[in-house]
Amino acid sequence: MSIWNKKEIKTKKQILKHDIEVDTLIIGAGMTGMNTAYYLKDKKNICVVDASKIGHGVTLNTTAKINYFQEKIYTKIINSKDKLTAIKYLKSQQYAINSIKKIIKAENIDCDFKCVPSFVFASTKSEVEPLKKEVEFLLEQKVKVKEKQLPIDITSYASYSVNDTYIFNPIKYLQGIYNAIKDKVSIYENTKIVKIEKLWTHYNCYTDKYKIKAKNVVIASHYPYFTIPFYLPIKSHIEKSYIIVSKVKKDLGFTCINTTSPTYSLRFYQDNDAIYQISLSESHNTAFKQNDLEHFKKVKEIFNLKGSDITLKYTNVDIMTPDNLPYIGKLKPNLYIACGYNTWGMSNSVLASRIISDMIQNKQNKYQDIFNPLRFNLSNIKKLPYIIYSQTKSFIGPKINKNKSWYKRISFVKKDGLNLAIYKDKKGNNHIVHNKCPHLGCSLIFNEVEKTWDCPCHSSRFNIDGKCIKGPSIYDISYKDNRRT
Ligand SMILES: Cc1cc2nc3c(=O)[nH]c(=O)nc-3n(C[C@H](O)[C@H](O)[C@H](O)COP(=O)(O)OP(=O)(O)OC[C@H]3O[C@@H](n4cnc5c(N)ncnc54)[C@H](O)[C@@H]3O)c2cc1C
Repeated sequence: MSIWNKKEIKTKKQILKHDIEVDTLIIGAGMTGMNTAYYLKDKKNICVVDASKIGHGVTLNTTAKINYFQEKIYTKIINSKDKLTAIKYLKSQQYAINSIKKIIKAENIDCDFKCVPSFVFASTKSEVEPLKKEVEFLLEQKVKVKEKQLPIDITSYASYSVNDTYIFNPIKYLQGIYNAIKDKVSIYENTKIVKIEKLWTHYNCYTDKYKIKAKNVVIASHYPYFTIPFYLPIKSHIEKSYIIVSKVKKDLGFTCINTTSPTYSLRFYQDNDAIYQISLSESHNTAFKQNDLEHFKKVKEIFNLKGSDITLKYTNVDIMTPDNLPYIGKLKPNLYIACGYNTWGMSNSVLASRIISDMIQNKQNKYQDIFNPLRFNLSNIKKLPYIIYSQTKSFIGPKINKNKSWYKRISFVKKDGLNLAIYKDKKGNNHIVHNKCPHLGCSLIFNEVEKTWDCPCHSSRFNIDGKCIKGPSIYDISYKDNRRT
């Protein structure tokens, strides 16, 4: 449950029930997939499939700030690449934000879209100078950044804000996109692609029962389940964050984020029922610090939420890239991918949709070159030891230390050579799963708060009975799953 799906998206709930042939197949109906379908809606034979429901991936648990003032991202890009790339990234974010504005206006989408000032602040003294450097870059690019005090009582040694940034409700936005494309694009929910096969003239994409023949395929599934030819596991790590939604008396009408760890990220949201503060913190690489209960406790402390009316608690993950630029573009002829948004996926998903829809229509997009998904540059090489260390730690760590001290209701057994994990619920019922992610074999971590089994390596998630609720895994881990027993 997230703050955004208090009301479900109304769709025809269509499921694929026969083989089809399309021009372009988009795999994934989150922000990336749905926006790509929007830009291609006037072309013939466009199809979107989603393993779950529209918007029920990472998009569901986002904080949904539409922002180009993204912590210290421009300094990081200057360090990992160069200043020209940082300038191009800034322009690409502004271009994407304008694109979202245009879509909302053209389709008259009611999604609580609001212009609010966005603050970036230094939560430690040592962050003051780095933040000033970031601001100097923005000022040089004629961005109107002003030094301004944070409108909330959080320790801050310097804070700056911009005014042309936005917030919205992403699920209401996707409802609007759905309404705009539903009569032109075929959309299938609960339709999971488990295999993509390249032939001379097209791709065959398979669900467990049916085949979709497509000239172009767009992978908009967040973390792709295949490794080759993209090699994402060695070009990224996963970052997890903890979100608490609490009721407050006043909407203070701003968003903020700091530049260092622990993260302080905040925004407000108002619906007919109440005003909410959405507080996010404790962001970390999933290879480390895996006690979810402890993280939520810290978020409560950091934002002083003791005694607050807390309505929801949830986690979310995103793909982080070594050079801080997303992976957007062509992997092979007619095969496209978009991911690695470094937690700035509202603007980057729309940017990706524009780039990929242009590529499919043989149009040049002025931003496409800096996001080439096949790049492997100096930043990749420099960060490779860290990535390999964290991948190894997340692969081996849970295998060595299964019984974490914080597990209250979990036990592990070996039966018929299989590693099983058992969650005993409050009524005493056992929920048994295979303790191995079907994607690349990592052992799983139990999330005590959301009651899910989470893969620390590549972010797959399973419910307590083993149903896969987030990829890259395409299989469940239920004990009774015949395939695996
Ligand atoms: C804690 C947190 C806070 C964030 N806050 C912000 C923010 O304030 N602003 C911002 O700009 N960004 C933010 N982000 C980033 C942003 O939420 C994501 O980058 C973005 O939502 C990703 O969208 P997506 O469409 O690429 O992926 P998803 O929303 O995950 O969509 C992928 C879809 O593909 C489907 N799928 C997966 N595998 C298959 C398959 N095999 N077959 C068919 N379908 C499949 C899934 O069911 C899913 O619906 C945040 C991220 C995190 C982790």
